[in-house]
Amino acid sequence: YFRMLDFARPYAFKLLVVAVCFALAGALEVASLGQVQQVLDHGFLNADPVAARGVLIHVALTVVGIMALKGFFSYFADVLNNGVSNALVVDVRGRVFDHYTRLPLSFHSHQRLGQMVSRLGYDAAYMQTGISDVVGRVFGSGLRIVFLVAYIFYLNWHLALQVIVIFPLAMGPLYFFGRKIRRYASRDQERMADLSSLAQEVLAGIRVVAAFAREDHERARFRVVLKNHYHAVMQKLRMAALSSPVMEVIGAVGIALMIYLAGSQVVDKAMTFGAFGSLMVATFSLYPHFKSLNGVNVNIQNAIAAGTRVFEVLDTPVAIADKPGAKTLKAPKRKLSFEHVTFAYGGGHAVLKDVSFELKAGQRLALVGPSGAGKSTLADLLPRFQDVSAGSVRWDGTDVRDASLESLRGQIGVVTQETFLFNDSIAANIAYGRPDASRAEVEEAAKAANAHAFVMEQAQGYDTLIGERGVRLSGGQRQRLAIARAILKNPPVLILDEATSALDTQSERLVQQALERLMRKRTTLVIAHRLSTVRHADEILVLDKGQVAQRGKHAELLKQGGLYARLYRMQFADRKPRGKK
Ligand code: ADP
Repeated sequence: YFRMLDFARPYAFKLLVVAVCFALAGALEVASLGQVQQVLDHGFLNADPVAARGVLIHVALTVVGIMALKGFFSYFADVLNNGVSNALVVDVRGRVFDHYTRLPLSFHSHQRLGQMVSRLGYDAAYMQTGISDVVGRVFGSGLRIVFLVAYIFYLNWHLALQVIVIFPLAMGPLYFFGRKIRRYASRDQERMADLSSLAQEVLAGIRVVAAFAREDHERARFRVVLKNHYHAVMQKLRMAALSSPVMEVIGAVGIALMIYLAGSQVVDKAMTFGAFGSLMVATFSLYPHFKSLNGVNVNIQNAIAAGTRVFEVLDTPVAIADKPGAKTLKAPKRKLSFEHVTFAYGGGHAVLKDVSFELKAGQRLALVGPSGAGKSTLADLLPRFQDVSAGSVRWDGTDVRDASLESLRGQIGVVTQETFLFNDSIAANIAYGRPDASRAEVEEAAKAANAHAFVMEQAQGYDTLIGERGVRLSGGQRQRLAIARAILKNPPVLILDEATSALDTQSERLVQQALERLMRKRTTLVIAHRLSTVRHADEILVLDKGQVAQRGKHAELLKQGGLYARLYRMQFADRKPRGKK
């Protein structure tokens, strides 16, 4: 919780104002209680009826005045307090989102999207309630309790001392409920994260769900998750509901004590009737504030559970960061080299073992190998989507780990099998890597990528909005947009993961042509699935189980026989353009 308050530091001054406003409002409320004694002692017990009436009118006006003033301060305190807590949540959400974007890709590949979104939404909201509520109630109710207790002491400290023993009695249950509620609150938040994960997953994969007619199954699965969440919430709420009467009974014991002790004093004529009245009103006034403090406990526990989950994210180290004094890379002049590279995912077994090769500037290296051989992993090491476990990746001799990420990734274009398109216009999607590009440049890139023609067929041309995940475009069209995106960025180095799925002949030809234009004059590392790619490669690296099995040019490798020849027959031979056999 204290770490959460850390977020509040920039708002310290505002919070101080909030506290002062709450304090003033509280003090005014207590002041109004003093009027009760006036009514009883100087009103009812006044021998002179005219004077008594005067006192009553005076008291009535004073009470209205006090309450109006109190309302004024309460209003300010509430508005400011809500302003601060909502601004805090903006900060928290901003920080978490920023952190998500900085976390290594390996983190993202192990996290469910729904979980991450849930932390941004649900958990941050709980933190907000926790903070605003605590500030509001601690200052509001807490200060009032202090004032009221002080007032009771002022009225009769003797009595107050006798009744105050009840406080320690309340601490035990308060602690007990706090712990339970926090446990149930974190369960509630986990179940909520499950819920959004599942919803997100099913909706994102709705085509698969539909294709396999698994709607009923998914609906049932979602019902289970909903039910789990319901149970978690109810468990928490039951505990919160139980805490309230328990605390009330303890409070009632205090009131009972006060009635008995103070009443006895009135009977013994040791206290005036007015003082007794004031004392009773003050004691009863304490009551709702105690209840409200118990409510704070519930919200604090909620917020702590949520805060723990949020801080878990913020505490995940940003593994790949620039070293101090990182070098700025320029387009490679000589070569990119992998030197004795070994890599393992998160402490697992080595996926790449002692891989060494060179890629001369301007040349094309094709990676070939059975699925799971480590081709994608190898390609991920160059832009530092992952860092090597041993060995090094060098860029004109500079270890990429000594370079700034921005300059490194600025030189590399990545075109993957799956094309992610943002929910934005076609032009904005093409210009994603260079938002400042002019419309003419965008069109030029689209033309080079064989995308211009189909873009012009769309209702609004380049301004056509692509639905989420680009559902309104065909696979080949999406690939060509991705190629246009890379062409526009114009990076000297290119990493290409060719699509394995075969497109129809016409689309295939257009994509192939676009790719050729994209690769021209660029240093290219390509995960090859197409025959023409391996044929035109300057060198082919055949990977098997994380090791280099063979290397050379297409013709040599075919002659050698072995893995490449086998792969060639399986992967490429059946894709030979018809008539060329
Ligand atoms: P290829 O691209 O040649 O099909 P990959 O580089 O994708 O091969 O995978 C190589 C090996 O690394 C496989 O055994 C795969 O299971 C494993 N692997 C890939 N990605 C991850 C990951 N994020 N975490 C753990 N293991 C992974």
